[in-house]
Amino acid sequence: AKNQGANRYQFFSESMNEQAIKRLHLESLMRQALKEGMFEVHYQPQYSVERQQMVGMEALVRLRHPEQGLIFPGDFMPLAEESGLIIDIGNLVLEQACKTVQQWRDIGLYKGHIAINLSAKELDLDNFSDHVEAVLAKTGLPANALELEITESSVMQSPKTAVESMQALRRQGIMLALDDFGTGYSSLAYLKKFPITTLKIDRTFVMDLESSLEDRQMANAIITIAHNLGLEVIAEGVETRDQLKILSAMSCDVCQGYYFSKPLSQRDMTTLLSTQQGN
Ligand code: C2E
Ligand code: CA
Ligand code: CA
Ligand code: CA
Repeated sequence: AKNQGANRYQFFSESMNEQAIKRLHLESLMRQALKEGMFEVHYQPQYSVERQQMVGMEALVRLRHPEQGLIFPGDFMPLAEESGLIIDIGNLVLEQACKTVQQWRDIGLYKGHIAINLSAKELDLDNFSDHVEAVLAKTGLPANALELEITESSVMQSPKTAVESMQALRRQGIMLALDDFGTGYSSLAYLKKFPITTLKIDRTFVMDLESSLEDRQMANAIITIAHNLGLEVIAEGVETRDQLKILSAMSCDVCQGYYFSKPLSQRDMTTLLSTQQGN
């Protein structure tokens, strides 16, 4: 039995070691990616339910690895946040997305906005809103064409500075969306407390809309409350025509999901914009 215990211990410490090595590898890969331009921004369309046209898009970051291909944020975001690299990655996404979208706007391909995800660490920076202002000035993107997506949990990491940042961003005319609504803290009180313009209903509520009466009632209640507070509502993760129909009947404003399109590379989005009219 003693022997077994020793073996188990050895196994345990080896796998810990392996994990630590993996983390080191991933961290140095992210540093390399920042230096060598291996991070890419992809764009997922958001469609107005009423007007049936693209009114926005969400920027989603990917790491293009020379051998492994595309690596998705689920695999590197947690470590990016923990290590603080998220600040540089977030910067890169903000600059790249604002610049690209303004180029599309300049040549008349696109009239809508760009939504960009923020991490808790960015929101907690002292001069974050000044930084965003500088990026808008540099790229020429108007403030009202930028929407920043913030989760409740990232606001709650340091609520005071986060809300101050949000207020400063709103004063510039930047739109603010509360992301993943319905997961995590999900307190209705935050809808009044946070200076937001938009509410994004999480995919977990959209997933079972067809089969679950409870989820339909929940989605309907969220949309009604949001509208009463003057907020625009976006549903994320819309994958089927029936989900779209149900959300449309509930007067959801905007839908986003695989039913319309997966996130597209800059090149593929340029092609999509060129083949659509009146965006
Ligand atoms: P999120 O902000 O909730 O983004 C939505 C995620 O759902 C994206 O995953 C998107 O590709 C995926 N998605 C979109 N439509 C559908 C659908 O119809 N069905 C399903 N099953 N999934 C759908 P992705 O791109 O892997 O991003 C995952 C998360 O990583 C994001 O969740 C966001 O929290 C984070 N993230 C991505 N890019 C950035 C970034 O530039 N900065 C920060 N801070 N976080 C980012
Ligand atoms: Ca988001
Ligand atoms: Ca989301
Ligand atoms: Ca999510």
